[in-house]
Amino acid sequence: MFTPHERQLAEELVQAIHFFSAQGWSPATSTNYSVRSDKPDEVIISRSGVDKSRFDLTDLIKINFAGEISPSFAGATIKSSAETEIHTHLYQLFPEINCVMHTHSVLGTVLSLQLAPEKQIRFEGYELLKGLEDNLTHELVELLPIVPNSQEIPQILRSMDRHLQAPLKIHGFLIEGHGLYTWGKNIAAAKRHVETFEFLFQCTHAMGRN
Ligand SMILES: [Zn+2]
Repeated sequence: MFTPHERQLAEELVQAIHFFSAQGWSPATSTNYSVRSDKPDEVIISRSGVDKSRFDLTDLIKINFAGEISPSFAGATIKSSAETEIHTHLYQLFPEINCVMHTHSVLGTVLSLQLAPEKQIRFEGYELLKGLEDNLTHELVELLPIVPNSQEIPQILRSMDRHLQAPLKIHGFLIEGHGLYTWGKNIAAAKRHVETFEFLFQCTHAMGRN
């Protein structure tokens, strides 16, 4: 069961998911999304295998940091995503993170492969860098790490951890050939981060830097 406040969060998250789906950033049931519930150690997260254009409130479940589904959401066919551990890892490391979003766009995927040898994408001089939390000017360098993909999530976590020292200096990372993870203090900030990175991917691609 959701509390009234959690229901509001869930509705806002579903709206964001529909927006990403309409942009083509969550094809073929891929991608996953979460928001911290009213309890600091509990997460509302998208369940696995749902068409994101038809995603609704009943496709969100509550889990704890061990990935266990809250009893009122459990059912024979209900599973959280294989990538749940990436979400819970971020929430445990950084209390300031309250929303995590993971998209699979064409450009994010292409750039993550083309720039994999550099292990990061470097963004510099764009006004829209201010779309990322705490960036107050375009006169900065934003680094987006690229980590290797794996079907073993603990391996992805080990690669991520090299970039996740506190205070957190990055706003997300790309998994090679796979997609973007980003986060925020709330759903609006995380959604803005997805949009900002997608804009920066388009600029990078259009300028032939790949
Ligand atoms: Zn994915």
